[in-house]
Amino acid sequence: MSKKQFKAQSKRLLDLMINSVYTHKEIFLREIISNASDALDKLCYKALTDETVGMARADFAIQIIRDEDGRTLTISDNGIGMTKEELENNLGTIAKSGSLDFKQGLADEDMPETEEGAGKPIDVIGQFGVGFYSAFMVSDKVRVVTKAYGSEEAWAWESEGADGYTISPAEKAGVGTDIIMQIKPDGEDENYSRFLQEHGLSALVRKYSDYIRYPIQMEVTRSRPVEKPEGESEEQKSPPEMESYTLTETLNSMVPIWQRNKNEVTADDLSAFYAEKFHDFEPPVKSIQVDAEGAVSYKALLFVPARAGYDYYTKDYQRGLALYSSGVLIMDKCGDLVSEHFRFVRGVVDSPDLSLNISRELLQHDRQLKVIAGNIEKKIRNELLKLQKDERESYEKFFAQFGLQLKYGMIGEFGKEKDSLKDLLLFASSESDKLTTLAEYRARMKDEQKDIYYATGESAKVIEALPQAERLREKGYEILYFTHEVDEFVAQTLREYDEKPLKSVNRDELGLESEEEKQAVQKQEEESGDLLTFVKEAVGGSVGQVKLSHKLRSQPVCLTAGGGLSFEMEKYLSTIQPDGGVRADRILELNAEHPVFERLKSLQSENPDKAKDYAKILYHQAALMAGLPVEDPTEHAKLIFKLME
Ligand code: ADP
Repeated sequence: MSKKQFKAQSKRLLDLMINSVYTHKEIFLREIISNASDALDKLCYKALTDETVGMARADFAIQIIRDEDGRTLTISDNGIGMTKEELENNLGTIAKSGSLDFKQGLADEDMPETEEGAGKPIDVIGQFGVGFYSAFMVSDKVRVVTKAYGSEEAWAWESEGADGYTISPAEKAGVGTDIIMQIKPDGEDENYSRFLQEHGLSALVRKYSDYIRYPIQMEVTRSRPVEKPEGESEEQKSPPEMESYTLTETLNSMVPIWQRNKNEVTADDLSAFYAEKFHDFEPPVKSIQVDAEGAVSYKALLFVPARAGYDYYTKDYQRGLALYSSGVLIMDKCGDLVSEHFRFVRGVVDSPDLSLNISRELLQHDRQLKVIAGNIEKKIRNELLKLQKDERESYEKFFAQFGLQLKYGMIGEFGKEKDSLKDLLLFASSESDKLTTLAEYRARMKDEQKDIYYATGESAKVIEALPQAERLREKGYEILYFTHEVDEFVAQTLREYDEKPLKSVNRDELGLESEEEKQAVQKQEEESGDLLTFVKEAVGGSVGQVKLSHKLRSQPVCLTAGGGLSFEMEKYLSTIQPDGGVRADRILELNAEHPVFERLKSLQSENPDKAKDYAKILYHQAALMAGLPVEDPTEHAKLIFKLME
């Protein structure tokens, strides 16, 4: 029988597992048991909706069989099992999703050896859900014998690690799967024998898999006093003789963590559950326990992850919460339970009120589900606001990962959710290095300040240098820094916050000038009409309008966008559609108080050619300051060289 090779990426990952310096090798047991539990869930669900399965919930169990002499540990389940194809697909490839970019995570060939560095393999284990392969952290060889529900044939998959695997026909009595691990000999780094010993194994099951909702059974040895022969005197004080006997014991309490009393569950319990269930080994930034009674009773356990997974912002990511009815898994990812803008939330919902024998499709329209979803939505929002208020650092960490999701949620569906999401947003601002909420900005606004100001640009640095922001700074008005493409759309959706309009520094007239100033500019404009037309002609069709500015202070020019598109939108849209011809209206604003303006004015009559060059340079400089590229860099360079001659 020929040996098959693992897919290339899987092989690297497997190498990584086998040579893992990850200190918690013991988690392999949790991973294997968790897979067994999933397999039981699948058959158990089938049994509920299909009488021909002929099994009741009480028939399902996980067995741990240890053989200390032969150094094998077997985890056996009577779940759904795998067909030959499934064996090949599930265990021949790690992380089936094609969109996966492993190179990033695994580029570092040198495995970290320090404690801090040890995070890396954990991330790999967590992010890619390579649960099964963790068996190779403790085994020299793994054999999987499985028979799928509905199939007559059993198959065995066998591998000694990175050099490949074989699949061959096998014998197996009932449906289900046996994972048989040949445990490594003890080494300097690890006492592998503990994974074969009764005590060690039952402690690990209690530590990591206590809440698994199927009995995890193992044969254990107990001792008892030997029964005394009749007639022996009670007075005789010799110590009782003991004998040992074996019995099959259920090691786990089987109470799911969400069914336990809130005050009995520690933060560590929650993190451990989260890690196991969602394959994310970084503790969540927020765990939310819900115990609701009312029109619909349910318990829920919700988690806000600390990090967006590798596929979070791809279409492969599926939102949804695991839905249980009295402890029986109905659906792994019920999308209807969590809204699109909170799609990062993971968790479980368990309600005894859901009727079980209806089809999954019908379930999606269940009125009770709508009630639960509505409550969960409110709960998540409130908890996030609480986190923002009480644990700002954690909130910022969360926002760095999922803020974009909230912003997209805000502009989606024509801003339907804007009011419920606006207080969750954070923005950079001119006020401090820290991010600010709109409410905080609002509270800091000066009494006479009419508007909320924001400026868009590639980075805080670009925005800080915007000539037209100078006037605001002079007045001590705070400016929100909108550095992401979507921010501009957020501003347009929101329009105002607490009755204060949002105004773009890059675009809108800020209306900060006094009546006298306005009149002075108007007068200058009339006087300089000629020059403005001259400049407009000099820069060709590039700008729609040249005018004198109300905004500028120390800089001679700035470029602003007219009514429709802003520069940031232009950039955004042209990345999506490079040849779409989208272009924001350009307005070149000149500062009549600046010496450069005076120079331009005198050159216009003395040396019109030079004045033309100056006009072009001014336009180019204005574009650069606005974060836009110069349309013809060669021409620009030539003009500058000429200036230097
Ligand atoms: P994950 O559990 O994250 O999907 P694993 O590598 O642990 O990744 O397992 C890969 C797949 O192999 C599982 O998704 C499942 O389909 C299958 N599998 C693993 N163990 C079992 C089992 N005991 N019974 C049935 N199928 C299993």
